[in-house]
Parts: sequence; structure tokens; C-alpha cells
Amino acid sequence: MLPALIICLLVIPALHFWWRARWRVEQEKHQAQLAERDRRELTTATETLAQQDALFDSMIEGVLVLDERNAVRLANGAFAEMFQTTGVLRGRALLEAVRSHELEEVVNRAAVEGRVVDHEMQLPGPGERWLQVCAAAVTNQERRKLGTILVFHDLTRLKRLEHTRQEFVANVSHELRTPLSHIKSYTETLLGGAKDDPEVFNRFLQTIERNAGRLQLLIEDLLTISELESGGVSFDLRPMALLPLTEKICDDFRARAQGRNVKLENQASDFTVRADAGRIEQVITNLLDNAIKYGGNGGRVLLGTKAAGEFVEVFVQDFGPGLAPEMSERVFERFYRVDKARSRDAGGTGLGLSIVKHIVQVHGGRVWVESAPGQGAKFSFTLPIQSPS
Ligand code: ADP
Repeated sequence: MLPALIICLLVIPALHFWWRARWRVEQEKHQAQLAERDRRELTTATETLAQQDALFDSMIEGVLVLDERNAVRLANGAFAEMFQTTGVLRGRALLEAVRSHELEEVVNRAAVEGRVVDHEMQLPGPGERWLQVCAAAVTNQERRKLGTILVFHDLTRLKRLEHTRQEFVANVSHELRTPLSHIKSYTETLLGGAKDDPEVFNRFLQTIERNAGRLQLLIEDLLTISELESGGVSFDLRPMALLPLTEKICDDFRARAQGRNVKLENQASDFTVRADAGRIEQVITNLLDNAIKYGGNGGRVLLGTKAAGEFVEVFVQDFGPGLAPEMSERVFERFYRVDKARSRDAGGTGLGLSIVKHIVQVHGGRVWVESAPGQGAKFSFTLPIQSPS
């Protein structure tokens, strides 16, 4: 009995210590496994966050995530760039981060209305910039606000396009209205009895014809511009000798120049360029037409060429009133005229130089004017020289 008791007394503590030791080992193993799992989860979470940041930063839309108290939780690069903010945004209050009460208003509306709020806003600061903001409040099941997500699209380019289009339509309507209303009023006067006087009849018909001609010119120029701007037109670019073309154009202009007592000189050299002959004829014709029109009666007009590296510079120079420096860029805009009445009287549409610019650019060249008031104007454009094959 005693030995059994002694054995028991020895075995039980031994077993106890053995189990404790095992339990400790198991516990340590378990702890190590937990620590390993935590480490893996942390790595995954960090990687996910980094991926999320990279994803948000690669977006062209601005993204802003706010918490329930309108403090920034996340703001991507595009957002920072749109609002031109620097430094860390995370943790800062919305108003402090971007100073826009309008934006705060959008955030509040999203919370109150419980739907995606779509809003257009203009950014303060230099240069007109427009944004579209879509804001949605994030709520839990009890409809308690947890935060707000805002996405920003830059609308500046679209707004500019819209403005240009509206301006263009207004200009076209205005340009069409004047000759049309002349045609209408002269026709009405004729029908009202003026046709019985042969002298008046003739004079009015001539006015009607002149205005119909203006309409035709305008519509032709508009069609050319729309064709060029649509990009759908293909240019027939091929080797082309400049001299014969300039001679032909000068011959066509000889009578008009003489009519205005203008001495037209062709000083072009024989370069071979890569160009669409028909389009380049239109460019030189528009420039010569302007030089004769605006260069003043009894003056001189030169058409010449000059080598410039891989390009040829073609220039048309007059010695008339010239242009003020601030007009040098603007004359290439559609419908821009220094003197509207004078341009219209001379049969101008205000589209000639913008057609020139388009055509030259399609050839890979550039166009510019050098001028000073009272010193004439020299319009030049470049064309690529055809390299010998
Ligand atoms: P327009 O049909 O009115 O001639 P353009 O686009 O050809 O239109 O020219 C735009 C404006 O540039 C003209 O209205 C004129 O005021 C100015 N301009 C063009 N060429 C000359 C020039 N050689 N000398 C002075 N002004 C010029």
C-alpha cells in the first residue's frame, strides 16, 4: 500500500510538471502563431493601404474622404493639385484644408438629402477653373453619418470649349444677319414700288448681289474652317515646287494689285517643299489678299522665300499701316478684326488668317506676323523642305 502511495506522490507532481511544461510550450507556440498571424495581417493591411493610395493617386479625378466631423481621412494627389494645397491633409478639418464654404455646404447637403449631390463650382484664384463635385454621405444601419466621400472632375476644358462654341455661334449668326437683313430690306423696298425706277432698281440689285456674295464667301470660309477643325480632311502632301505656284498666284493677283495701284513683286526662290499645292495656294492667296486690302493704295507688296534649316519661310510683306503688337497673336483668331467696318467693306470675313493657321499647322509648320504700327506687316509661315530621295 505504502509503495503505491509513494509512487502516486511521485508520479502526480511529475505529471503535473510535465503537463505544465507542455502547456507552456503549447502556449508559446500559440502565441507565436498569433504574433505571426498579426504580422501577416499587418503586412497585408499596409500593402492594401499602399495599393489604395497608389490607386487613388493614379486617378485623374480628385478624391476626398471625410470622417463624421468633416476632418480629412484621405485626399488623393489630383485633389491636392486641383485645390493647390500643400502639406499633409489627413486629420485637418475640411475648412482648414481647403477654405471653401461652398464645399462644406455640399458636404452638409449630402448628409441632409441622403443621396449623391452633384454640384458645379468655380475655384478661387487666378485663371478660371471649374470643378464638378459628386458628394455622398456614408451612414451606418441606424442612418448615423460615418463620413462623406467626394469625387471631383475638372470641367475647365469642357467649359472653355462650351464658351468657344457659344462665341462661335454668336459670331456666325451676327455675320450672317447683316448681309441677310440688307438683302431682305432692299428686296422689300423694290417690291414696295422702287422697282419702277430703273436707276434705283439697278442700284438696289447691285447691293443685293454684293450682300449675296458676302454670304457666299462667309459660308465657303465657314465650311473650310469646319472641314479643317473636324480633322476629317486629308491633305495631299507631296513634293511641290514653290516658284511656279507663287508665279501663278501673282499672275492671278496682277489685275487687282494694279486696280489699287499696288506694286506686287515676286521674290520667291525655287524651293521644293512637301505640301498640298491647293491648300498652300489658299494660304498665299489669303495673305496676298490681305496685304493688298490692308497695305494701302499705291504701296508695295513682296512675296518671298528664305531657307530656315529643314524648313522654308514663305513671307508676304506690305508697307501699310501695320498692326499694334497686342494684335499680332489675335489676328489669327476666328472672326478677329482690327477694324470690323473696314474688313467688311473690303469683303473680309474675319476667317482668312485662322484658315491660314490651320493649314500651315497641318503641314507641320508655323505662322506669325512681324509688324509695328505705321511700318507695314510681314506675315511668314514655314513649310518642310522635301529632302532629296
Ligand atoms: P479678314 O477677312 O477681316 O481680312 P483675316 O483673318 O484675313 O480676316 O484678317 C484678320 C484681321 O487682321 C483683319 O481684319 C485685319 O484687321 C488684320 N490684318 C490682316 N492682314 C493685315 C495686314 N497685312 N495689315 C494690317 N492688318 C491686317
